[in-house]
Amino acid sequence: MPINPVVEDELDSLTRSLLLPSPGAGVYARTGLFEQVVEGLSSFITRHREPETQILRFPPVMSRSQLEKSGYLHSFPHLLGNVSCLQGNEAEIHALVERKEWMSELSSTELVLSPAACYPLYPMVADSGPVPAKGLMFDVASDCFRRESTHEVGRFQSFRMREFVCVGTPEQVLAFRTRWVFLAQRLAKLLGLPHQIAPASDPFFGRAGRLAAMSQLEQSLKFELLVPFRAEEPPTACMSFNCHRDHFSTVWKLFNENGDQAHTGCVAFGLDRLALGLFKTHGLDLQKWPVVVRENLSF
Ligand code: AMP
Ligand code: ZN
Repeated sequence: MPINPVVEDELDSLTRSLLLPSPGAGVYARTGLFEQVVEGLSSFITRHREPETQILRFPPVMSRSQLEKSGYLHSFPHLLGNVSCLQGNEAEIHALVERKEWMSELSSTELVLSPAACYPLYPMVADSGPVPAKGLMFDVASDCFRRESTHEVGRFQSFRMREFVCVGTPEQVLAFRTRWVFLAQRLAKLLGLPHQIAPASDPFFGRAGRLAAMSQLEQSLKFELLVPFRAEEPPTACMSFNCHRDHFSTVWKLFNENGDQAHTGCVAFGLDRLALGLFKTHGLDLQKWPVVVRENLSF
């Protein structure tokens, strides 16, 4: 008998039937049932996309130099995953993998794993010239990687992020963010998800990072839509609403048509967390979910 048996609660057993663990912590194979809800959610989000939004789907990797230039290593070096490969001719590579320490022979490529869906967008927008007076809106998505230090339910190393991004004047971006904080609550209601909106800060690295987080809170740059996963624990962030002000536009030289510095903002949907929140709320049997919710998710 184990001395301290780990007691599995309802959320653990629910997660176990939806997501099959792999040897990598926080990395799962998703079941058909889980995917049905993720797909329903994706279409639901699409149906609420604002008009004149350009769609881009990014791969799970992006340019390392672009992420460096974005300041990611300054803010979140602890979360970054890099793509490294063995280099050489066939004989050299064979020789490398036969050694036990082949991993020390890996060399970095020009790629990293994308930590959020919107990073590759800003340099592309900058390349396409000044931002028109009515502003620009984008719908982006990618698989994301974050080297999280804990792997509680809903905290994955690899997860899917969908985002709407606005580029324009400070007023346009603020209005976009305000609109989405409001709209997101309507969407959560349509899905029968208990939720609350709260000011938030990013998990910036180190001591200087704590100051950055405080300043982000003080300036109300980030809000989150939180969903309760366990009654006794703080609720889980399933969406975020972010104002970057002129951060990305300074890095990428993004200007509005009138020559002013553009502002950017994004609304991020954590698809895997939202799906888990839905299962937690409505249970494993989709037939028993409220009719309105099933209609909204197209099943
Ligand atoms: P953030 O860029 O941190 O605001 O993340 C945007 C959204 O992605 C969050 O609101 C979560 O829903 C989701 N997310 C962030 N980190 C993780 C993670 N480690 N596992 C699963 N979902 C995540
Ligand atoms: Zn973003």
